[in-house]
Amino acid sequence: MPAVPIAVAWGDGIGPEIMDATLRILAAAGADIAPQRIDLGEAVYLAGHSAGIAPEAWDVLRATRVLLKAPVTTPSGGGYKSLNVTLRKTLGLYANLRPCTAYAPWVPTNHPGMDVVIVRENEEDLYAGIEHRQTAEVYQCLKLVSRPGCERVIRHAFEYARANGRRKVTCMVKDNIMKLTDGLFYRVFEEIGAGYPEIDKDRLIVDIGAARLATRPERFDVIVTPNLYGDILSDIAAEVAGSVGLAGSANIGTGAAMFEAIHGSAPDIAGRDLANPSGLLQAAVMMLVHIGQPQVASRIRNAWLRTLEDGLHTADMAGPATVRTLGTAAFAQAVIERL
Ligand code: NAD
Repeated sequence: MPAVPIAVAWGDGIGPEIMDATLRILAAAGADIAPQRIDLGEAVYLAGHSAGIAPEAWDVLRATRVLLKAPVTTPSGGGYKSLNVTLRKTLGLYANLRPCTAYAPWVPTNHPGMDVVIVRENEEDLYAGIEHRQTAEVYQCLKLVSRPGCERVIRHAFEYARANGRRKVTCMVKDNIMKLTDGLFYRVFEEIGAGYPEIDKDRLIVDIGAARLATRPERFDVIVTPNLYGDILSDIAAEVAGSVGLAGSANIGTGAAMFEAIHGSAPDIAGRDLANPSGLLQAAVMMLVHIGQPQVASRIRNAWLRTLEDGLHTADMAGPATVRTLGTAAFAQAVIERL
């Protein structure tokens, strides 16, 4: 079997450092992939491509249908609209999966039992891009929720729960106020959930749900929620679990998928060998499962866990369990030595 072609974007800021570290680990673990470089982000924008992505990158994406993406910088003072929104909508990436797990006692956290996966609707809701000026003083953004959109992401959440031995799916909505849009999301949740009798279902209004996620994240397993709530909830969950440098995410569509760390390009530490490559590495592990290489994925995840257990941490993870603080490249080497 030929190696699986994947598109790889090195991104901006700490992007190139954490991507190099991640690809070294993948190569050492025997991942059967053929990376194809695409350029996107600030440099592409400054070179004159207003969308932040070069036209030839779309050809590579259409051919590979899989993208491993380092974070990109949003140009300050104007610039292109969110490249992530462009990629999600163009590639039809309808579900965003974000596992937020505590790695206690190796990484400091107040919630050692936390192991939540947030499944966020990724194309609709207030991020559908229907926003305009009505008068000089009134602006409007429309919330778009469709039955097919709800069905796709909710079914994905239940299928994920079933495939991964998860026991409960919680739906977070604000259907006491938005009875039609969020009401539809919850109705579809009930309909589809009926087909998964072995999985517990729960519903929380998103405001109290967010408060509980911040104070008692252990009570959650899988959460499925519309786009805007999911964006906010997943940042809360990642922060509560530990460092933002630890979490990866998968954007899944019917014909394509994109994998990335949840954090940004961290310009404050770029080029200093300080960045934690773990978020991008976790995303790459999800990518390997997606392309049918779960054994390599497990091998990498176990070596990475062993590295944390041995107290070898990047600076953002440092705490009482740290034996030695390593830079980006040395941390990658430590993972490779434990494969
Ligand atoms: P950020 O996530 O880049 O950084 C926030 C803080 O976390 C910083 O102190 C940073 O040093 C630290 N941090 C982040 N990742 C780390 C890592 N791997 N290891 C150690 N420390 C880490 O958020 P920001 O500063 O608000 O955004 C910077 C740029 O990134 C902006 O241009 C923003 O638009 C962009 N961004 C891109 C994405 C993406 O491409 N998916 C996501 C979020 C932000």
